[in-house]
Amino acid sequence: MELFTDEYFMNEALKEAQKGYDADEVPVGAVIVCDNKIIARAHNLTERLNDVTAHAEMQAITSAANYIGGKYLNECVLYVTVEPCPMCAGALGWSQISKVVYGAKDEKKGFSKIDYQMLHPKTRVFDGVMQSECSAIMKQFFKEKRK
Ligand SMILES: [Zn+2]
Repeated sequence: MELFTDEYFMNEALKEAQKGYDADEVPVGAVIVCDNKIIARAHNLTERLNDVTAHAEMQAITSAANYIGGKYLNECVLYVTVEPCPMCAGALGWSQISKVVYGAKDEKKGFSKIDYQMLHPKTRVFDGVMQSECSAIMKQFFKEKRK
């Protein structure tokens, strides 16, 4: 009765990415899950907020902490469509999140290129969940941008 799989939640993160896409934001989406329940949803808002730090993960961390009423997310899992950047990985490290699942790798700006130690030592990381869908929406976005 594994109703809630990694694919299920990644698909929810992809819906957020699509909202970003529709709003002309770089289409990265994230959800944070606690006890199989989505407690935060976010997409990239750097254009709308005029804020380079407004990545999906940053929004989701703040929103999840508000929901929980505590700053640590050590009972929570983050699903994000694209590999977190070092800024977000640092923030996820501070949050002590228990697990990070991402879809597409970011060869240029992904944190794993630089340093895995940014995350909390107890945080487990999984990648490649719905990778092709997650990278397809990014490719489409940048293809449209170049037109
Ligand atoms: Zn980031």
